[in-house]
Amino acid sequence: MSLLTVGSVAFDAIETPFGKTDKIIGGAATYISLASSYFVKDGKLVAVVGGDFPKSDIKLLENHGVNTEGLQIKENEKSFFWSGKYHNDMNSRDTLVTELNVLEYFDPIVPESYQGVEFLMLGNLAPTVQRTVIERLEKRPKLIVLDTMNFWMDIMLEELLKTLKLVDVLSINDEEARQLSGEYSLVKAAKKIMEMGPKTLIIKKGEHGALLFQNDNVFFAPALPLEEVFDPTGAGDSFAGGFIGYLAKTNDVSFNSMKKAIIYGSAMASFTVEKFGTERLVNLDKDDLEIRFQRFIDLVQLEAKI
Ligand code: AMP
Repeated sequence: MSLLTVGSVAFDAIETPFGKTDKIIGGAATYISLASSYFVKDGKLVAVVGGDFPKSDIKLLENHGVNTEGLQIKENEKSFFWSGKYHNDMNSRDTLVTELNVLEYFDPIVPESYQGVEFLMLGNLAPTVQRTVIERLEKRPKLIVLDTMNFWMDIMLEELLKTLKLVDVLSINDEEARQLSGEYSLVKAAKKIMEMGPKTLIIKKGEHGALLFQNDNVFFAPALPLEEVFDPTGAGDSFAGGFIGYLAKTNDVSFNSMKKAIIYGSAMASFTVEKFGTERLVNLDKDDLEIRFQRFIDLVQLEAKI
């Protein structure tokens, strides 16, 4: 099934206890598109970059089968820039710089050839832009998943709440779930958030895995215990890409299918954190994927009688 991803395509500068990068390719839509490319072909992208964005990085996305017809290039402007620094535990980070640049007045134009898309992934971006994309699709997709972050809760909460009413699945981390709901307990937070619009909620807990909520059902996917986490940037987006990629591939949006999808999402995230930026995600082969998925299955399989 067809998949459209909207989100930031960016320059990132990252600092972790293991080292520092200059400006490298990043952005929510970059990670989502790369991760989902292992599940669906011709993933469609709506995003914007400035004239400073290297053509070779656009080529990198295209080489992964990403359709960049909807990627606008604003020749006289600068690309979105984000910089973050991770704490020693690698689970928390401080945002050092967010320069919206081209994102400030981004008008997300949806190419005619993208109409009729069945799965929509709204990656991290202004909630107004995310909503505009929903409104510009002539037919509502079968499934709309939205990812966001505290930055947008801080500066555009009302707009975010309006957009949340229109989506099926929300994917956020534990801190963001607490901020959005005002509840410390994640179970209480989930109940409140599911009344805001999305019928399904994913709460990511970094190295402690992810929770999937729908009605009274809860499912847990662990994160793979890794000896070394190099750079967690993009883990949440790679997770989202694996999640929606799997659902789009199977065209099954049942709760059971979503359970598998969060395992696939967790597997994609586990690759991303092994190297800086997108380095690991761009170099996966079929065997890597299969072996990693099997490790996840082994991790959660249990033979027990009650
Ligand atoms: P994650 O580590 O999955 O939460 O996502 C990190 C990515 O999000 C980085 O590559 C950033 O470029 C991107 N990002 C950070 N802040 C924002 C923002 N305010 N809007 C859109 N994308 C962002």
